[in-house]
Amino acid sequence: MHTITPKNPIQRLEIGSASNPTGSMNRRQFAGLSASALAWSCLPACAQTFGSAQPVTFAAIGLGSISDIFMRACANSQKAKVTALVTGHPDTKGAKYSAMYGVPKTSIYTYETFDRILDNKSVDAVYIGLPNSMHCEYTLRAAKAGKHVLCEKPMANSGAECHQMIDACSQANVKLMIGYRVHYDPTWIQIVETIRSGKIGQIQSFHGGYFGQQPAGVWRLNKKLGGGGALVDVGIYPLNAIRHITGEEPQDFTAVISTRDRSGRFAEMEQSMEWTMKFPSGIIASCGCSYGQRGPSTLSINGETGYLVVEPAFNYEGLRWHGEIDGQQVEQSSSGKHPFQFTFEADHFADCVRNNKEPESPGEEGLKDMLAIEAIYEAAGAPIA
Ligand code: NDP
Repeated sequence: MHTITPKNPIQRLEIGSASNPTGSMNRRQFAGLSASALAWSCLPACAQTFGSAQPVTFAAIGLGSISDIFMRACANSQKAKVTALVTGHPDTKGAKYSAMYGVPKTSIYTYETFDRILDNKSVDAVYIGLPNSMHCEYTLRAAKAGKHVLCEKPMANSGAECHQMIDACSQANVKLMIGYRVHYDPTWIQIVETIRSGKIGQIQSFHGGYFGQQPAGVWRLNKKLGGGGALVDVGIYPLNAIRHITGEEPQDFTAVISTRDRSGRFAEMEQSMEWTMKFPSGIIASCGCSYGQRGPSTLSINGETGYLVVEPAFNYEGLRWHGEIDGQQVEQSSSGKHPFQFTFEADHFADCVRNNKEPESPGEEGLKDMLAIEAIYEAAGAPIA
């Protein structure tokens, strides 16, 4: 349940996984919250109905950490179901997930046999949880097989690949959505609504970041598989959130990269990056990301009359934000339980497939991020494409 415990002068709320709290959401700063944001934030995913339609059925491609989460999220959904698996390890991982989710042995594919999925009528769509460099190839192959595509971020390794993916899905008349899970998190929906409804005045600037450690030898530190460094993997979160909130495309960039760790871990890419972006309206943003430092996932939004600080901003759960709205201090947190973001995401995609709607985060959204990423690397003097 959403709870409000006024804590003068700070108002404290919890959002995320509960029954209808609208009676208690009478703070004037939330008066403009849209019906859709409330609907999403008030309903547990498993309570949402899907009419009489059958769930949209997925083949999970690449059975690593994110596909594991996605499959768990589908198990909580009435709209999305995993009915096939694609893996380089059919006898181990394939067998394990087949047993967990009731996937028939005949619906376990390898990368070599994947194209046979064309004939599998129990698969509507694919979920691509592969290393970045494989997103384009598997989107093209899935589109050729007539399957809808939910592809993880970053969409691909270059803008040119993104264009190919958009064209292939359009020609095959299948949906293409990029897995920007944050777009489907009720807390973020509310934050975006709050800002867009003018409650902090005209936006002036953003400060964002996402930092973490990657151990030596992982595919993320391999240029060919990862495509780029931390920017394509985690820096993309503040980048996408800022573009999403402003509705503008950044046009001027500065960037610096640096590698202090000389162990060889960062032989193929930078350890850390800081960059700035200026938008056509004059909004400025300053962000950082790293594969080799501890730090928060964070986004601050400064407006003319108020501000919001979201931290952690991009985690799977436990998001918190505080700030000043209408001259009052506010503080709020999400109580949604992981993997709820992925269930909302899968449900949204399923709705788009069943009702022929354009996804909230279509291929074009992934392309715009990729074009900004290319421009940022260019500004850093280290072009990636
Ligand atoms: P993992 O390394 O955990 O899983 C990737 C899987 O891809 C592997 O388990 C493997 O599955 C398959 N694979 C096929 N070829 C290769 C290869 N050459 N090297 C490594 N793996 C290979 O990665 P993640 O799940 O963390 O990331 C996958 C994608 O998901 C990335 O694009 C990443 O950016 C995105 N992601 C998104 C997140 C989000 O919050 N939206 C969070 C984390 C990741 P198998 O053994 O079955 O063949």
